Amino acid sequence: MVLERDEIASSWRRERWDSLRLLTPNSQSRLPGYHYEGDDPDGFMTMAETVDFIAGFANATSAPVRTQTEVQSVKQTDAGYRVLTNAGEIACRSLVIASGACNAPVVPAFHEAIPASVECLTPFDYANPDQLPDGGVLVVGASATGIQLADEIARSGRRVTLSVGEHVRLPRTYRGRDVLWWMEAANVWNERYDEIEELDRARSLPSPQLIGTPERATLNLNILSDLGVEIVGRFSAVRDGTALFSGGLRNQFALADLKMNRLLDTFDEWAQTANGIDVGPVERFESTRPPESPRLSLDLTSGEIQSIVWATGFRPEYRWLDVPVLDRKGRLRHDGGVVDAPRLYVIGLPVLRRRKSTFIHGAEDDARDIVDHLARSI
Ligand SMILES: Cc1cc2nc3c(=O)[nH]c(=O)nc-3n(C[C@H](O)[C@H](O)[C@H](O)COP(=O)(O)OP(=O)(O)OC[C@H]3O[C@@H](n4cnc5c(N)ncnc54)[C@H](O)[C@@H]3O)c2cc1C
Repeated sequence: MVLERDEIASSWRRERWDSLRLLTPNSQSRLPGYHYEGDDPDGFMTMAETVDFIAGFANATSAPVRTQTEVQSVKQTDAGYRVLTNAGEIACRSLVIASGACNAPVVPAFHEAIPASVECLTPFDYANPDQLPDGGVLVVGASATGIQLADEIARSGRRVTLSVGEHVRLPRTYRGRDVLWWMEAANVWNERYDEIEELDRARSLPSPQLIGTPERATLNLNILSDLGVEIVGRFSAVRDGTALFSGGLRNQFALADLKMNRLLDTFDEWAQTANGIDVGPVERFESTRPPESPRLSLDLTSGEIQSIVWATGFRPEYRWLDVPVLDRKGRLRHDGGVVDAPRLYVIGLPVLRRRKSTFIHGAEDDARDIVDHLARSI
């Protein structure tokens, strides 16, 4: 049985902002035996369409889902696990944790030092720009969420400052194809966790700077700068009401550009060497332009910034898990989804078994592997 504390597709219903569309194209909206069947494989689903898609899968597979059933504690027993829910107790031999990788926004501890006059929001609170108080907005984080929100808020007519740390730059399209089409075709997304040299690092990489729009537009820091967004470095501390930003933007940009170009080289190699396709002349993108002299501090008491949106990532939550399988950073100890306790599994975490593991279409291969293991352990 599948236990869900809310409704099917809850995260897409409750935890996303109004304008969000998937950043994965429709062709990659796939679940086992079920896929997008419309006439726009390169388009991007709205949240309502995503909810319909997931609910459609549950319906088509007659998945035994018990909604409004919140798991409040899981304890190990001699026979397996005892699961306490708001709707009673369940005993099971095997348990798969599929409670998501993004249950709560991550906000740095120094947020407590932000002056009370500045309104702080996370992506879970943010719905649209109208909700923000008048005045300047500081968006912290320049991965998928941060760049999308900075773009939307700037286009609503507000002054936006964007604090940029480590990021992964990708063009929306490359040589006429969606960049995520290339990730799949060139087998980058299928790379297995046990073949990745720096697995911990791969698992903690930020999401790529991508947005899903009907125009299939690229969104990057150059485009945001042209829109008037002020780029500053990583938000590192608050001292006496002043936000402090790290230097080193030039290096951050150079690194992200370098990694993007390496990935594009991989795509070209795949096309040419593995498939004998003449890809034609080199296609590369303008380097990220560092600001002339980025501000290193910003007085948060001056009134210039009225709100802060923390786009600093998400984390899973395991408060209900009373089995000693978390490391000192609160992460599950697992080997490709096989958790460090008998017949306990997890699915849906970043690079769980493959680079694509945390995306919707990553579930199919991972689920098959995990179910194989589970079936052998019974
Ligand atoms: C802002 C954002 C944008 C994203 N965009 C994309 C995208 O474009 N394409 C893509 O492929 N992926 C995207 N992702 C990743 C996306 O989260 C995953 O692809 C997908 O949602 C993972 O599904 P899941 O079922 O593992 O987790 P979730 O969708 O998080 O589902 C977990 C479910 O578990 C339930 N739950 C949690 N705790 C309990 C409990 N104690 N008891 C009972 N139920 C519980 C929750 O209510 C929830 O319904 C995005 C993620 C975020 C945060």
